Amino acid sequence: MNNTTDTPVAVIGLGLMGQALAGAFLKAGHPTTVWNRTASKADQLIARGAQLAPTVGDALTAGSLTVICVTDYQAVHELLGAREVTLHGVTLVNLTSGDSAQARETARWAEQRGARYLDGAVMAIPSGIGTADAVILHSGPQADFEEHEPTLDALGTVTYLGADHGLASLYDVAGLTMMWSVLNAWLQGTALLRTAGVDAAAYAPFARQIAAGVAGWLPGYAEQIDRGSFPAEVSALETDVRAMAHLIEESEALGVNAELPRLIKAMADRAIAAGHGGEQYPVLIEEFTKPRVD
Ligand code: NAP
Repeated sequence: MNNTTDTPVAVIGLGLMGQALAGAFLKAGHPTTVWNRTASKADQLIARGAQLAPTVGDALTAGSLTVICVTDYQAVHELLGAREVTLHGVTLVNLTSGDSAQARETARWAEQRGARYLDGAVMAIPSGIGTADAVILHSGPQADFEEHEPTLDALGTVTYLGADHGLASLYDVAGLTMMWSVLNAWLQGTALLRTAGVDAAAYAPFARQIAAGVAGWLPGYAEQIDRGSFPAEVSALETDVRAMAHLIEESEALGVNAELPRLIKAMADRAIAAGHGGEQYPVLIEEFTKPRVD
């Protein structure tokens, strides 16, 4: 196991994120080799002790693991698919954002060329890299993750999700939908309260308390989903839908956008039409699990 900060690493791609990743490896003491299409982006890292690899191929053989972080998977394939590049014997950690199909396909592609491949997703901004706030998700062969975890630890809070290479990107998008849904719900409430002269800052602490309370329901609701049984222990969907109608009416009456409230109610209405009115909210998973058919 590579458990010292002497472990040499390489980083391919020195955009905002790649520079932060390479900087965190350097800060932790790892001998760090870097490569970027635009070589000048390596200057600050070289000043801090990084080695510049003359070619992508040189970067791939410089470390016991190579992190690649470029714009998209197309760029990954353009770089690593070049005829002169060999992946045999390389351990590659791809922290480029993409979807689960791209991750699985790239894993097959890299493994067929003799590489060991972990896919990852960075759930952080560049300034957070190297701190515990930076959550970095990994999926792929567990033995490969465990071998390199002590090295990857330099980047933040590294987490292993499972052998399916698509999991890191799926968790990534799951996190994004949580983030945007919470923010949209907060903005809806803020818009409603502004009609009464309430500042966003005045509402934010209340909204935070509600969000934290709802977050506390998740484990119990998740159990209902995994059991496939949704007894109305707290409230039935047909009760909830009356409050949803009230939210739409209030939004319309106050002249604020009612798209989000209408979407919330439309999904509940469909679940009720399908016979689930007496069940609890997580029964809506059935609406979320299938594509919308108009
Ligand atoms: P960026 O600053 O725009 O950098 C893009 C990098 O990709 C540069 O190194 C660029 O090289 C390289 N690149 C693009 N196309 C290439 C090609 N065809 N061949 C060779 N190199 C190519 O982007 P970033 O912010 O570092 O983001 C990189 C990845 O991290 C993305 O997938 C992004 O979604 C993900 N991410 C970023 C953040 C963030 O806050 N920045 C957060 C989470 C995840 P040049 O310098 O030569 O143009």
